[in-house]
Amino acid sequence: MNLIFLGPPGAGKGTHAEVLSKTKNLCHLAAGDILRRNIKEGTSLGMEAKDIMAKGELVPDMLVNSMMFAEIKMLKVKGCEGFILDGYPRTIGQAEELDKFLASEKMTLTAAINFDASEAVVVERLSGRRLCAVDGKIYHVKNMPPKVEGICDCHGQPLVTRKDDQPETIRKRLAVYHESTKPLIEYYARKGILRNVQADGDAPLVQEKIAKLFEKVG
Ligand code: AMP
Repeated sequence: MNLIFLGPPGAGKGTHAEVLSKTKNLCHLAAGDILRRNIKEGTSLGMEAKDIMAKGELVPDMLVNSMMFAEIKMLKVKGCEGFILDGYPRTIGQAEELDKFLASEKMTLTAAINFDASEAVVVERLSGRRLCAVDGKIYHVKNMPPKVEGICDCHGQPLVTRKDDQPETIRKRLAVYHESTKPLIEYYARKGILRNVQADGDAPLVQEKIAKLFEKVG
């Protein structure tokens, strides 16, 4: 099963991709996480992406496409039965290149799941989001707090806020979403593979909706 998770930043794509990838033995390929890993490791891709990401803008298609294609090529080696693309594609250009790449690999997309979340909910989630500095596990100051305030449950380290989760950058990322990424909803609807999930509710509620959807999708 090969899935795309669509939706604005803060819609819960990462959280739900993490759960579903485990239950369905899929590789969770989160473009933002892979880019952040490249920044941490100081690769040339990371160096090109760093300032762009800090501003909430999009990394050029060509760079992200080749990064994601390399990840998809590793699926079998990793023993995954498919993938969840989380935060990729983010432009029509990326989606078209992905189609060509998948055709060349004789792979197909099973579904594009659109996480439909309102602007108010998304802003609240992003501004309260905190991460474990060691493994990137996601917390939220109100909705998913750690056992001890400000400290990650697994490693006992202070939680961090992503640079691009600052209010001004959140606004920029949402504007970029509306302009460049939202048209993908129509793109996948026309292909007949779009599925909508109302994602404003708490994580367990949304998870139930996803589980129901997969009773149908397979
Ligand atoms: P995310 O973790 O998905 O919120 O992504 C964080 C940032 O990484 C975005 O704001 C972009 O700067 C960059 N990024 C992630 N995915 C893509 C993509 N598919 N195309 C271009 N830039 C991306």
